[in-house]
Amino acid sequence: MTLPETAMISAGNAELKSIQSILNAANFAAGKHAPQKRKGAAAEPYINHLIEVAHLVSSGLTEPDTNLIIAALLHDVIEDCDVTKDELTKRFGSDVANLVMEVTDDKSLPKRERKRLQVVNASKISARAQVIKLADKISNVRSISSSPPADWSLERQREYLEWAGQVVNNLSVPNPVLKAEFDNTYTRFNSERQDS
Ligand code: ZN
Repeated sequence: MTLPETAMISAGNAELKSIQSILNAANFAAGKHAPQKRKGAAAEPYINHLIEVAHLVSSGLTEPDTNLIIAALLHDVIEDCDVTKDELTKRFGSDVANLVMEVTDDKSLPKRERKRLQVVNASKISARAQVIKLADKISNVRSISSSPPADWSLERQREYLEWAGQVVNNLSVPNPVLKAEFDNTYTRFNSERQDS
């Protein structure tokens, strides 16, 4: 079936609008995270992590969800850059702001407690927020695997991996594509570290 020309134009416009709003979020995140590097020895620009997470999220989708990809790009902007929920709501709408809030730790709590709460809350956040959470953990485990922070012992790397595994295993509706990728990354980490 061919669509009437007007329908094709509006479908095309919706696609263009979606691409524009994703790039707008990428641009905003790049600006806010500009001074930040990843913790690994390679010290990659932090935006690499955000683009990787957004790409992973998009690979797990079976239908378009522009706001989820935008939220993936912005998932660390409140935690790391002191951007407020209000600002995100104004710029990107309440759906995006709520998704980002769901994956934002309460920084007033001690680190240990924040990590414990991530495990406990993994099953309580929305299915869409769980996709971001899972993609974030894949990106972090990949990074620790390929470029661990210089001052992290093997034991500390393993502890991180263990904790990330607990968070992922507590997700109530893990995205199947991303869960398989997490499991691969996890297994690869362990076999590489055994060889060395
Ligand atoms: Zn992150």
